[in-house]
Amino acid sequence: MEPLELSPPTAERVRLAERVVVFSGAGVSRESGLDTFRGAGGLWERMRPEELATPQAFRADPAKVWRWYAWRYGQAAAAAPNPAHDAIARLETLFPSVLVVTQNVDGLHQRAGSRNLLELHGTITRAVCERCGRSREMAGAVAESSERPPVCACGGRFRPAVVWFGEALPEAALVRAYEEATFCDLFISVGTSGTVYPAAGLIELAHQAGACLIEVNPEPTPFSRLMDLRLAAPAGEAFPALVEAMAIERSRDREEPIIG
Ligand code: NAD
Repeated sequence: MEPLELSPPTAERVRLAERVVVFSGAGVSRESGLDTFRGAGGLWERMRPEELATPQAFRADPAKVWRWYAWRYGQAAAAAPNPAHDAIARLETLFPSVLVVTQNVDGLHQRAGSRNLLELHGTITRAVCERCGRSREMAGAVAESSERPPVCACGGRFRPAVVWFGEALPEAALVRAYEEATFCDLFISVGTSGTVYPAAGLIELAHQAGACLIEVNPEPTPFSRLMDLRLAAPAGEAFPALVEAMAIERSRDREEPIIG
């Protein structure tokens, strides 16, 4: 992608910003080779979510659901963070406060080095006992049993530590995400269709609270019209360009002579 030039109003918001929220979805991991749920080639084009990503599905056919997650875990573990994940992690060197709020379960933001992270939909890198809540690495759980959920010492079944359709999001994480969306200066939405609530409500909240809104997504979303800046390109190209443009603005601020 060509070097990016920010419009004067956006450049000004970037120069002055202290708090940044990055809200990410499956699209950010697309260039790492992981499928999205919606959009061309998404996982749900081949499989119905209600057959796999629900508590009812797990009760009805635990082995089928476990196999699907064991497969997805294998894909995520074999994938590497792409330039978008790396650029998101780099934001922490530019702004005093950066929070990544992700709907992804693949663990790639951590592996790229993002330290301040909320995983609203849980993580595929861990398994949790549905009876006693004991948690363990997914790697060990899949190695022990890839065909059906391993059984915990308490007799309960292990399941992936993700949030399924119809389940509540982790409350503390959601409250913190809403707080940060309310108080941030920049809110950057990347690779999300914005169709899954309540997470997608964060975009509306940041807009109402007056944040500068940026969207990185090759396709328009229901929130595109609210954006101060929209980059209609794959995240692996657009996000590094965005962060480079931000770095230039931030260094401009530091170079400014002190007068008087
Ligand atoms: P989604 O599938 O609804 O939407 C993906 C979005 O990414 C679309 O708007 C699409 O246009 C965009 N996109 C596609 N390629 C892109 C690219 N290269 N760069 C930037 N954007 C691109 O995903 P969502 O909004 O995250 O939906 C939420 C649900 O999807 C969550 O429940 C989440 O847990 C789940 N999910 C997670 C993963 C993962 O962890 N990698 C993968 C699939 C689904």
